Amino acid sequence: MSVYGDEWEDADVSPNSLLEELVSVSRQIGTNPRLVLFGGGNSSIKLDGSDFKGDPARVLWIKSSGSDLGSVTADDFVGVVMDDLQRLIEREAMDDDEIVNFITHVMVNPNGPLPSIETLLHAFLPFGSVLHSHADAILTLSNVTDSHQVIQEALGDDVVVVPYIRPGFQLAKTAALALRLRTSDIRGMVLLHHGLLTWGDTPKEAYALHEELIAQAEQYISNLPAPVIVRSPFLPSDRRKELVQRIAPLLRKYLSADRRVLLSFSDNEELLSYSLRKDLGTVIERGVVTPDHLLFIKNTPMVLPVSFDLSNSDLLGLIESKVESYRQRYTNYFLRHSDRSLDMRSPDPVITVVPGVGVWAAGQDASSSRIALEMYAHTCSIYEMTERLGSYSSLSEDEVFDAEYWPMELRKLTLRPVSGEIQGQVAVVTGAAGGIGAAIARRLARAGAAVVLMDRDQKQLESTAHLLGKEVGDSNVLSVVADVSNETDVIEAFEAAVRTYGGVDILVSNAGSAVTGKLTDLSMEAWTASMQVNITGHFLVTREALRVMTRQGLGGSIVFIVSKNAFVPGKEFGAYSIAKAAELQLGRIAAIEHGSDGIRVNMINPDAIWTNLWDERIRADRAKAYQIDESELEDFYRRRSLLQRVVTVDDVAEMVLFLVSERSSKTTGAVIPVDAGIREGFPR
Ligand code: ZN
Repeated sequence: MSVYGDEWEDADVSPNSLLEELVSVSRQIGTNPRLVLFGGGNSSIKLDGSDFKGDPARVLWIKSSGSDLGSVTADDFVGVVMDDLQRLIEREAMDDDEIVNFITHVMVNPNGPLPSIETLLHAFLPFGSVLHSHADAILTLSNVTDSHQVIQEALGDDVVVVPYIRPGFQLAKTAALALRLRTSDIRGMVLLHHGLLTWGDTPKEAYALHEELIAQAEQYISNLPAPVIVRSPFLPSDRRKELVQRIAPLLRKYLSADRRVLLSFSDNEELLSYSLRKDLGTVIERGVVTPDHLLFIKNTPMVLPVSFDLSNSDLLGLIESKVESYRQRYTNYFLRHSDRSLDMRSPDPVITVVPGVGVWAAGQDASSSRIALEMYAHTCSIYEMTERLGSYSSLSEDEVFDAEYWPMELRKLTLRPVSGEIQGQVAVVTGAAGGIGAAIARRLARAGAAVVLMDRDQKQLESTAHLLGKEVGDSNVLSVVADVSNETDVIEAFEAAVRTYGGVDILVSNAGSAVTGKLTDLSMEAWTASMQVNITGHFLVTREALRVMTRQGLGGSIVFIVSKNAFVPGKEFGAYSIAKAAELQLGRIAAIEHGSDGIRVNMINPDAIWTNLWDERIRADRAKAYQIDESELEDFYRRRSLLQRVVTVDDVAEMVLFLVSERSSKTTGAVIPVDAGIREGFPR
């Protein structure tokens, strides 16, 4: 059952090709969510090579700590000299610091990243290539009360079962000794509450065994009858939708007390039916399926039982009290186990289950919250699979604490720094498909925000969002096709933002359209079109943003991209200039009405930015209005500015970032030109 193409059959077996083979196999494992989730699992190969002095040596190449198996490259494998590692098995004990210290002295490249925390385990197993995953089916077998017997029954007695031990010297030594006791051909090893190890002379052989054992486990589980689970009935979808919109901003408010978080949400059928279990209260107490998940989702979620008829203030009170009691419980757990040397992690829940509505996961950025949500979804499915086998076997509280506060594991978090000036914030940018809007979205995303790109041009919007997603990660970019002058479109766009990220902190109201013509020549149609986009559009997005921001209670920042035209009306540009003046007034009203909510509203007046807004027709019209040749237009605009410089979309984007950041936290109701200095355009 090879998953490889034919080229594998004839591949040579030089060290380089074996490392390449390991890279391929590792990615196969790492990109299969049935086998591992983010950061889980590892792989290795032992090859002849040389140590850092250049002397010949057998070298263990193992995945570096913190790299992701799914996107691993040959450079992510760290070389450690086998002779030195193997000798350690004779020791009685070794603590983690000793191991790390020892390993850094025997690495082929001492300045490279540290190898996986399971290096000794790989080194002590006497096989060419070793693969390790946290496959769902294996975790199912290894999280029931009589796991040992279940595993032998499901997989056969040519699989070794190792009791739960936190990774480190003891686990590595126990696993190696368990193998020494067995003489027959062993196909693999299951670490209880943890995962699977298989091996072979080559990565390909090890992978074939991996697949074989997992398929066997899956088959065994699916052959057993599923127990009957009693669930409450599903709620009508429109009521659920409404509750999602009401709950998310409030939940985000209380989970952002220490630092701003984003929320990912799912109400897929599995999670929704899980949330409706009558015994949910006891099921959620089962805890993580492998200690690896503790860093990402904590041991248990928060449950928020809501009903439709709850008023907003009752809902607020409920969320506040549930979050508070979760924190209290976490703090008590920490205090029961901690000595004074440890700092408590945030006591907030990561996962919130709302029966009948869905599951939320909180994270410092969109990718962390999505990873957490995915881990919890797998946890729920493993819970339900274990019910075919018997009763669930949880880690003890001591084991949970020991794993959650294991310094080696906590160090992993520091390898994934989350930073950025507006980290954890959600920014909606209108007219984001191109020009100024696209530049603003990119600037805000680079500064750490999750961005919601709105535009009515679907094709260009998708291509802009795709490019941006490649740069900042797809999970940080949401694109919504919407016409800002269409009330339903705007409402739905903000609902999508709340559903995807939990709320909105920043609005950049940028969408506009240039309508030209003398008043006497303006048709009713052209006039109305300009008012619809250039003023009604700004009103609609502002209203929806303010509604979300005030519900959320975390303040916020709105920036209007206006135009010098608000102060300096342009010839034959009436329908545009008049709307721009109204937009400026809209911003001021919003600043006045919402200052007490901590919402700041500021305006930017750019001038003569060269974007595709200036299509052929507009250029021709402007040139005609100023009685110059079209080719002279750019120079004309440049020379009339005080600084005599060309203004770009990035100049505007930079000013937007300043206005939405803490750096301008005392500024609201301001108008700032980005026009290289136009005397007539000075704000007044
Ligand atoms: Zn593991």
